[in-house]
Amino acid sequence: MRSPGRPLLALALLLLVVGAAVAAAVLLRPPSFAGALTGTPSGAPPTTPSPAAAAATAAPAGPPTPAPAPPAFDRTQRSLDSPDSTWVVVNKLRPLDPVGYAPADLVDVGGGHLLRAEAALAVADLQAEAAAAGHGIAVQSAYRSYEYQEGLFADAVGRFGAEGAEQRSARPGHSEHQTGLAVDVGGGGCDIERCFGDTPEGRWVAANAHRSGFLVRYAAGSEQITGYQYEPWHLRYVGPELATEMHETGVATLEEFFGLPPAPEYALG
Ligand SMILES: [Zn+2]
Repeated sequence: MRSPGRPLLALALLLLVVGAAVAAAVLLRPPSFAGALTGTPSGAPPTTPSPAAAAATAAPAGPPTPAPAPPAFDRTQRSLDSPDSTWVVVNKLRPLDPVGYAPADLVDVGGGHLLRAEAALAVADLQAEAAAAGHGIAVQSAYRSYEYQEGLFADAVGRFGAEGAEQRSARPGHSEHQTGLAVDVGGGGCDIERCFGDTPEGRWVAANAHRSGFLVRYAAGSEQITGYQYEPWHLRYVGPELATEMHETGVATLEEFFGLPPAPEYALG
């Protein structure tokens, strides 16, 4: 049952609601209303979050958004002392600690040669890159245990005398090969000889090995720093980040890059 007064009452209520809504819109409009219409900021910070802020809000547990400019290279991010660190610096003044260290993650890279897993992947990458450029790079020597190095050094002393052996071979516990991160390579008809540096393969290695994470550890002209003659065949894995930083900044040795003392001789004869 309907009374004739009901439609009028409904209309009055409707007008009241609409009127209240209009009044609310006028009273509550933001002060930047005109600016918002033209897209001109009116001094208030934008309410729309930037994409970076939106991403950070959406994933608060994720890694920080990288800055537009790359930060300076952090030389402290890895240990130079720990034998398991890919940045460990081993030379005549810095024996491995412990001297009998043996890596736990050695893998076969072919021919019975062993490297730590990360370096093994990297040397395969290096060989693939070299092959794509038309160069065959072979692994001649890789991980050498303390005991094996002991035998090699004794053999070198027998052949070259004590002084000659020091320039060609490392005392056990002082060889980069014991880290599982060093590899001797050959190619172009010259294996583990200085002539490798003059082959197309050796030149390619010197120019490109950093991209796979390797550096020519015993650079020409650095004998008084590294304690070793130029060895264009001896590559040391340090990872692409450090190898590329050294390559691009033209720093030849780990000792110079990290501000470590030159190590031309052993501390004790
Ligand atoms: Zn070597």
